[in-house]
Amino acid sequence: MAVTDWFRGLGSLFFPNVCLHCQVATARASDLLCVGCEAQLPMTDNWRLPENDVTDRLAGRLPIVYGASAYTFREGTVCQQLIHALKYHHRPDVGRQLGQRFGEVLRQVPALTDVTGLVPVPIYDRRRHERGYNQAEAIAEGLGEALGKPTYADALRRRSFQGSQTKRSKLERLENVQDSFAAGRGDFRQDHLVLVDDVLTTGATLDFCGNVLLSRHPGLRLSVLTLAVAER
Ligand SMILES: [Zn+2]
Repeated sequence: MAVTDWFRGLGSLFFPNVCLHCQVATARASDLLCVGCEAQLPMTDNWRLPENDVTDRLAGRLPIVYGASAYTFREGTVCQQLIHALKYHHRPDVGRQLGQRFGEVLRQVPALTDVTGLVPVPIYDRRRHERGYNQAEAIAEGLGEALGKPTYADALRRRSFQGSQTKRSKLERLENVQDSFAAGRGDFRQDHLVLVDDVLTTGATLDFCGNVLLSRHPGLRLSVLTLAVAER
């Protein structure tokens, strides 16, 4: 852990009510952001649209019932800062809180009324051990709380890499994503599951994870929700 991270962690012990972006005091201890930074975190309206950034990026690769994202991810934005805190500064509460906030909005979506559960994209055991949690699972739990749906964290497994990953080219690593996911526990042939991840970039991970679930559970219907979608 970098020294600056350590100090930030120490600071949040004594001053839990500071904005995650600009460090000024927030109104309540549970607030992630101050009022000014909160205004710089607009939710996208793609959840209202049957075709949007999420569905476009998965089109022709993964058949989904519904796809949406809460925020647009750009470098240097409040959104990036929150995702960073969630992934690297031991703040699973950021995922739960933003997931819950998104879930409150999604309660109005007819396509999601028959959802039976949420499946977070798994991370490697080693990384989970270092981080202490899976950030996608924190988001799924927040969504599930708002939508009143269970989270099936072991429906997918992430296998350890075989051999040295660092010696492979970028393209080889990307292709290797396919080999690194496997179906886990549960029978979801009659279900409508929602795959959940933190940020949608190329869509390769969600594509592979979704297709693993669809081939394991014939009859399964699948949707995709991510906290953010990377700007193209
Ligand atoms: Zn602020």
